[in-house]
Amino acid sequence: MIDRRALMIASAAGAVAATQGLPIPAMGQTGQKSPSRLLIKGGTIITMEGAGVLRANDVLLDGGYIAAIGSNLSATDATIIDARDMIVLPGFVDAHRHCWQGSIRHAAVDTDLGAYFGNILAKLAPHYRPDDVYAGTMSSDIEALNAGITTVYDWAHIMNTPAHADEAVRAHRNSGIRVVFGYGFPNTSAEWFYESKKPLVRDDVKRVREMYFTASDGLATMALALRGPEFMSTLDVTRSDWTLAKELGLPVSVHVGIGNGGVPYQSLRKLRDAGLLFEGTNYVHCVTLSTEDRKLIRDSGGHCISTPSVEMMMDFGIPAINATLAAGMRPGLGVDVVTTTGGDMFTQMHAAHQVARMQAFQDKAFPPITARDVLGFATIDAARTIGLDSKIGSLKAGKRADLVLLRADRPGLSSPADAIGAVVSAATVADVDTVIVGGVVKKHAGSLVGADPVAIARKASASGAYLSERAAKG
Ligand SMILES: [Zn+2]
Repeated sequence: MIDRRALMIASAAGAVAATQGLPIPAMGQTGQKSPSRLLIKGGTIITMEGAGVLRANDVLLDGGYIAAIGSNLSATDATIIDARDMIVLPGFVDAHRHCWQGSIRHAAVDTDLGAYFGNILAKLAPHYRPDDVYAGTMSSDIEALNAGITTVYDWAHIMNTPAHADEAVRAHRNSGIRVVFGYGFPNTSAEWFYESKKPLVRDDVKRVREMYFTASDGLATMALALRGPEFMSTLDVTRSDWTLAKELGLPVSVHVGIGNGGVPYQSLRKLRDAGLLFEGTNYVHCVTLSTEDRKLIRDSGGHCISTPSVEMMMDFGIPAINATLAAGMRPGLGVDVVTTTGGDMFTQMHAAHQVARMQAFQDKAFPPITARDVLGFATIDAARTIGLDSKIGSLKAGKRADLVLLRADRPGLSSPADAIGAVVSAATVADVDTVIVGGVVKKHAGSLVGADPVAIARKASASGAYLSERAAKG
């Protein structure tokens, strides 16, 4: 008899293994063996394929993929995860985060964008050592995995030296999260901002791509995190950076529409005039774009990403959830900076849900969004914005086995009549029981598997203390 309350795992033959991952194969880091078959039994399943919720259904995972979803599935050689008191859903997709900031988290909670630039980018970033990038990135990845985020887009504008790039990639590989690695620019001096005449370091972009991103179907893929007109490179440099992306076949991400200060840059118009509106580009924030700008993004096959908590906290304006929908696109959500906000998608879902509905009640041009919309923004829509929707973001046979199991046997989530509404409005990180990335169990029974969160947090804290001290010296 499986003890559901203790969330034990039993083999299909009925042998009970006492929790903490016992027959679960640990970790999916580089070089580790392929995941075995897992059968998630009896869960309330939110597939994000269609509107419905499947009650008392099973999900069979095999070789890192979803093999089947249905009732009463059997697989004699599979390890069973009892999900009778669980809500099973796709892993969350964080479409935009600067992972290196995991070692300086909460350093800019009460600041606006100007102070963030002055304190974080101007004072702290130049002092980052490769070790600090590793510590911060690993801390961000583990925080994300613990919160049920199985994929993160890392907008890594801390490529101060080649070793900084190496350490960022190494942290992602060791954490085992699925990542789009957005190679960015060195954050070493004002020369890289403010009408910057310095293009991306072409040789290192190529080196990193060849060294780490040649496998066609690993957990990590590469992209370019570019400054563009608003963040702020000259048009010549913008053209050079975008040309490099096209030459190497790497998708582009760029910040646009950031507060009233972003409007004069006219980013979309400049990119259009320069022929740089590439299909698949993701545009981050989009808060103060015009209706015409949004049409340019839509018609060029681009995507909009919102990081609603940071956008509201740092005076960017009203997050463009409704505006993106009105333009015929669906936004993805991102955490952005843990210097200001929490690093989980529940926080972002709450912010998006609340601000978009409030805006809709005040402006009848917008229909109120639903919890289903919001869960989409944090899963399948986010996956689309970073070019991974064919692989992740929903539960469907053939997709990668990236899932989250939330405990629904506690007061906050117990017996929800509306499972999607419960996840979006009431779930927290404390409810995240099991996290699976590519078929590999990264968290089980509420504990991370194969990672030492205390050691990782201590390393990040030590890095943050060093950086603060160094920045104080000027
Ligand atoms: Zn950002």
